[in-house]
Amino acid sequence: MAIITVDKTCCKGCDICFSICPKKLFVPSKTRNSYGTNLPEARNQEDCILCGMCERLCPDGAINVIRSEDTKTGGEEKHED
Ligand code: SF4
Ligand code: SF4
Repeated sequence: MAIITVDKTCCKGCDICFSICPKKLFVPSKTRNSYGTNLPEARNQEDCILCGMCERLCPDGAINVIRSEDTKTGGEEKHED
């Protein structure tokens, strides 16, 4: 599971993320930033395959892919024997 965020202060609307995502998760949102860009948002995030392409190729470094293990708190690890 992933949480995909787009930083509205960075995105300049190049639209690369729309085409680069192999699962085509990015769609334009209704939120417009100071560059006049309709910010992309990732829908159906449960379908993300965590390839990291969007994060790596966004020229403005606006996309952050948070892996589910990164969102766990308390540093607890589950061990199954
Ligand atoms: S690739 Fe980055 S800068 Fe380009 S539209 Fe997507 S989030 Fe915005
Ligand atoms: S990590 Fe890959 S599958 Fe997930 S949103 Fe980014 S480009 Fe799409």
